[in-house]
Amino acid sequence: MADIEVDYCVVGAGFAGLTAALRVKQAGQSVALLEARDRIGGRTFTEVRDDGSWIDRGGAWVGPGQDRIYALMDEFGVKTYKQYTDGEAMMVVDGKQYRYQGTIPLTMSPWAAANLGAVFVELGEMCKTIPLEAPWEAKKAAKWDSISLAKWLGDNTLSKPAHDLLETAIAGCYTSAASEVSMLFVLYQMASGGGPGFVLGVKGGAQDSRPVGGMGAIYRPMAAEIGDSLHLSQPVREIAQDGDGVTVRSAEMSVRARRAIVAVPLAIASQIRYEPMLPMDRSFLHQRMPSGAIFKIAVLYDEPFWRADGLSGQSAAPESPATITVDAGTDTGRPGVLCVIVEGPVARRLGRLSEAERKKAVLDDLTARFGSKAASPVDYIEQNWSVERYSGGGMLSHAPTGVLTQFGYTLREPCGRIHWAGTESSSVMCGWVDGAVRSGERAAREVTERDGALSLARPQ
Ligand SMILES: Cc1cc2nc3c(=O)[nH]c(=O)nc-3n(C[C@H](O)[C@H](O)[C@H](O)COP(=O)(O)OP(=O)(O)OC[C@H]3O[C@@H](n4cnc5c(N)ncnc54)[C@H](O)[C@@H]3O)c2cc1C
Repeated sequence: MADIEVDYCVVGAGFAGLTAALRVKQAGQSVALLEARDRIGGRTFTEVRDDGSWIDRGGAWVGPGQDRIYALMDEFGVKTYKQYTDGEAMMVVDGKQYRYQGTIPLTMSPWAAANLGAVFVELGEMCKTIPLEAPWEAKKAAKWDSISLAKWLGDNTLSKPAHDLLETAIAGCYTSAASEVSMLFVLYQMASGGGPGFVLGVKGGAQDSRPVGGMGAIYRPMAAEIGDSLHLSQPVREIAQDGDGVTVRSAEMSVRARRAIVAVPLAIASQIRYEPMLPMDRSFLHQRMPSGAIFKIAVLYDEPFWRADGLSGQSAAPESPATITVDAGTDTGRPGVLCVIVEGPVARRLGRLSEAERKKAVLDDLTARFGSKAASPVDYIEQNWSVERYSGGGMLSHAPTGVLTQFGYTLREPCGRIHWAGTESSSVMCGWVDGAVRSGERAAREVTERDGALSLARPQ
C-alpha cells in the first residue's frame, strides 16, 4: 500500500473535485486527488472520435450566469459555440405533432398555451421567494416541502396537454417521477439557476452554448495542471479523522492530510466508511438524496438532415422512448448528432429492454418525428447513467418531500475535518457543472482559510 502525506486530500475527480484540487494546488498547498474510475470528469464524459468530432455522454451545455465555468474556460483557453436553434422545435402530444418557435409551443390550443404561460409565471414568482443559502427558511418552506411536484402541477395546471408537457419538462430535470420530488426542492434548484426560464430555456438558458471540444476540453487541462497529484482507479473506502488530520484509504493508497474534501454525489458518499461516523443528520442526508434515471443517447448521421427540413432538432414527446431530442452537433455541424434524452420512469422502462429493443424503439420514434432518414444512423452511442457505479444516476441528486427542511442545513456544513463539495452543495447553479466548479472553489477556500494557509486568489 502506498502511503503519502499531503496538506489536503480530495475525493472524486468530477468538476467539483478537480476544481478543489486545482485551486488548493494553485494556493501553494500539496494535494492528493483520489478518483474511483479510470477516467476523470464524473458526470461529464467527453468521447473524442477518430474523425476529431466529440460526443458529450454526460453534462454538455453552459449558459449565461454560469460565470465560474466560463472563468475556467477562459483560464484554459476553451471557446464556446452557440447551440443550434434555427428552425422550428417540435412537440408531440397524443401522437399529434406541433411545430413552434421559442420556449412555449403556442401552436397547441390557446387554452393549453395560456395555461403553460401562467404556470411559468407562477413558478418564477415562487422562485423569487427562495433564499438560496437557506431555502428551508423560505416563508412557505414547510408547505412546499410537504408536497411533491406532481401535487403542485396537478393543482395548478388545468389543461391536460399543458400538464403533461410541464411534467415531462420539469420532472425531467430531476430524472424522476414528479411524485418523487419535493416542490421546495424544485423551486430551490430552479431559483439557483435564476428561475424556470433559465432551467427550461435554450437560447439564453441552460442550453445556450457548448464548449468547443466538449467538457473534456476543460477537464483535461485541469488534470494536466494537477499532474501527478491525481490518482485514478482509487475508490475511497474509508475516511478516518482525529484531532490532527484525516487518513483517506483506498485499497491501494493511504493518504494522510490535514483535511479532506469529499466531492462525490450524495448517495454515493454514503458508501464510504467514516470513522468516527458522521453526525446523524449528515448521514441521513446521504440516505435521502437520490439521483434519478437517465439515458443520454447520441444518434449520429453524416449530416444534420433535419436542419434542411426547417427543424432545429429540438423535440419533446412525453412518455415516448425518444422523449427529448436536441441537435448536439459540434461547432462544425458535422457529423449530424441528434441527442436523445430519456429520463425518470420512461428511462427505467427503457432500461428493462434489451439493447437491440431499446435502439429499435428510439429509432422508430425518431423516424416518426424526423422522417425516414432518421432510421439509418451511422452510429448509435448510449450512456445509461443509472448503472454507473460511481454516479448512481444523474443528472443531479434531488430531495424528496421533507428532506430540505430537516436535513438541508447539512449540505455544506463541514463534519470536523471533512468538507463537502459537489454540485448539490452549491447554492448557485445547483445541479450544473457550474455549480460543481463553484462548490470546488468554496471548499478549497474553506479548508485553506481554516488552517490559516494562503488565502486563495481567484484567477482573473
Ligand atoms: C446525462 C447528463 C446530462 C447533463 N447535462 C448537463 C448540462 O448540459 N449542463 C450542465 O451544466 N450539467 C449537466 N449535467 C450535470 C453535471 O454533469 C453535473 O452537475 C456535474 O458534472 C457534477 O459534478 P460533480 O463534480 O459535483 O460530481 P461528479 O461529476 O459526479 O463527480 C464525482 C466524482 O467522484 C468519483 N467518485 C465517486 N465515488 C468515489 C469514491 N468512493 N472514491 C473516489 N472517487 C469517487 C466519481 O467517479 C466522479 O468522478 C448532466 C448530467 C448528466 C448525467
